[in-house]
Amino acid sequence: MVVRDTARYADFRLTCRDFGIPVALAWEEELAEAPLVRLLESAIAARLDQGSRQSVLNLAKSPLVANILQDPDELERAAADVFIRSWRDWPKIWDRVAGDEPAATELRKGFIRLRRLVGSLPKQGSCGQMARALKDFIASLDIPALLAGGYRCQSLPPHRLKAGLLAYEAVVGTEGILDSIEQEVAVFGDPDQMIFTLRKYLELFRKAVAAAKPLNLERPPDGGVQVVSPARVRGTAFGAVFILGLTDGEFPLPARENWLYDDRDRAAFNELGLDLPTAVSRRREEDLYFAVAAALADDLLVISCREDAETMPSPYVDEVMRLFAKGAVETEKYNVNQLFPEDYDAVYSAKELTGRALLDAFDSRSADRSSPAVGYALEHLVDGDFARRLAAEAERGCAADSPYNGMVGGDRGGGKNEFSITALEDYALCPFAYFAKRFLGLDEWAEKEEEAGLDVIGTIYHEALAIFLRSRAGEILRPERLEDYARELRAAVAAIFDRLIAEGRIVAGKLWEYQRQRLEKVLLRWLEYEISEQNSDGLAFAPHLFEWGFGLPLRPGMDPASVSSPLPLNLEGRQVNIVGKVDRIDKVGDKLVMIDYKRKSCPPFRKLTQGVDLQAALYIMAVEEFLCPPGTEVAGGGYYSVEGRKKEGGMWRGELADAIRHRAAKRDGNLSREEWTAVQDMVRRQVFRCVEGISSGRFAAKPAADCPPYCVAREICRYRRPEQYDKTVGGDSDGC
Ligand code: SF4
Repeated sequence: MVVRDTARYADFRLTCRDFGIPVALAWEEELAEAPLVRLLESAIAARLDQGSRQSVLNLAKSPLVANILQDPDELERAAADVFIRSWRDWPKIWDRVAGDEPAATELRKGFIRLRRLVGSLPKQGSCGQMARALKDFIASLDIPALLAGGYRCQSLPPHRLKAGLLAYEAVVGTEGILDSIEQEVAVFGDPDQMIFTLRKYLELFRKAVAAAKPLNLERPPDGGVQVVSPARVRGTAFGAVFILGLTDGEFPLPARENWLYDDRDRAAFNELGLDLPTAVSRRREEDLYFAVAAALADDLLVISCREDAETMPSPYVDEVMRLFAKGAVETEKYNVNQLFPEDYDAVYSAKELTGRALLDAFDSRSADRSSPAVGYALEHLVDGDFARRLAAEAERGCAADSPYNGMVGGDRGGGKNEFSITALEDYALCPFAYFAKRFLGLDEWAEKEEEAGLDVIGTIYHEALAIFLRSRAGEILRPERLEDYARELRAAVAAIFDRLIAEGRIVAGKLWEYQRQRLEKVLLRWLEYEISEQNSDGLAFAPHLFEWGFGLPLRPGMDPASVSSPLPLNLEGRQVNIVGKVDRIDKVGDKLVMIDYKRKSCPPFRKLTQGVDLQAALYIMAVEEFLCPPGTEVAGGGYYSVEGRKKEGGMWRGELADAIRHRAAKRDGNLSREEWTAVQDMVRRQVFRCVEGISSGRFAAKPAADCPPYCVAREICRYRRPEQYDKTVGGDSDGC
């Protein structure tokens, strides 16, 4: 039997054992994959980069440091929101560790011990010194005792115990990797006189590991079916050869991405004598392996492949078929149903019975999962965890009202009737994404990076514009004073940066300096646009209020005219209170205009009528409620893209549109009095639909538009199976 990668078929020996077929397949594992080797690499990496987040977490998560650090996940969680570059930054996390005081102290102690151990590795020295330091490091972890303990309490299966002990021997034993490096180096001179940096020693260590023999977990028996890889077999032949796994991506192996150099670079290097494989050379190698595999057969060659919606046969299958006249090669096709006897009376092994029963139970919707065969298979033939996963999968896949489909039920609103506009919009866009974000907390794990987050950029724009315009409230900006305004804007940006750095929200550095210059440029272009807007023909609206809140506690930066009462919305005897903050309100005479800043794109009017853009309409209602005494009215409200320098979306009084420069040429969103009232009514109903959905725990995965690429629930939601939602979950009553 020929397979491209024997490791992929490691379980084949178990299948053959079930059928009593002797098979000669060694059970081997590469030493490079052993936890001990990874542990040493992580420890050296942590020493070299002085305790960076990733190297320390890699080290902490090694199962071989479990005696020292028992809760690496908590360490990672506490560090998630902290910017960590080196050992010096780690103490910042200690007051974030969850759990009781002893557990937190234990974690801190373990971490300090681990840091000391890493610190004991010399940054340079002879191979002998390096080897001794690494052996001391390993000895302090008492790895054989740790493995034996795991085996005794049954958390480590016997083959893992064996793999662990073999790796230990292969690294620290006499003639192990650490000693062998010294011996190799001795060929070139006195090893004690040759000093290496730790980085160079890591290179030597990796080379020695790559060249080491695989760990032999089980020797192949003599005789039986030979399982070979074409990469390791030469100069032999067999009567019958079966080539398995002729599936694209398995044989031939996929050409890996050239992430550093593209094929042209590689070809150029090859001409210079540097032998880097290209996609073409890799494919030629695969072609050679297939030719070797086929040439092993003396009398009979069987090739086999799998094809389904996601898997294509290997191109070699076609190539072989083209060599022969049509019909000359015997072909057989099986579907999954034919792999197991249809009649239970014809079942002769436990494996066949398991396969048949599971297929019958889960392959079609009409299947009877309560049949005795299924019950027997689940109870006696598959392990308990498999049965549990099957039950969970059945619930996730078939039960439309299951929690997996977002139908969690209960009062998820906690009885509250006060909502922010952002929360309502999140729910309107997709109830399941709302659930994942706000109840499962899936967006809480973003690590702090030097790269600017969009939220930080948004904060800078909002604050800079508020600071600048507040000092000019009620004024129309004059074009001849552009230079003065630009100076003020720059000063506002600088002050905001200083504050964000002091608060630890951004980290001072070259990247942020570059960002600061970019944001300044954007704001100066916005300034030119703003001046031209304010000085255009028609109604000359002047900035009036900034960061005006309703229903929110008054915070620094908010307009003093903010009101603490929320906006009450009433419908059919029920009331919902809305809270929010309007970025800017402009005024001319008795007319007000509401403005919400967006970084780039603005939601079009269509989104408002679809019920997913609620902001403009609700802000207008709030302004009407609290800031419009008789004789005053809202002329409209919409969005203002700071980077795009344009105003779009929202709803506007049709009779005033001609007098508002950016509305004059627009059709959508300029509303008659009746349309204005109808849109507000539609938005009110939409708010109540969302509140009902949240309160009753209905969070179906039902996006109102295309799923955004950054959705926090993308990996877990069931949306890619629309049939699950059509009938029950997807009804109008479930989402907004
Ligand atoms: S990926 Fe789409 S359907 Fe799934 S939760 Fe996100 S928005 Fe909703």
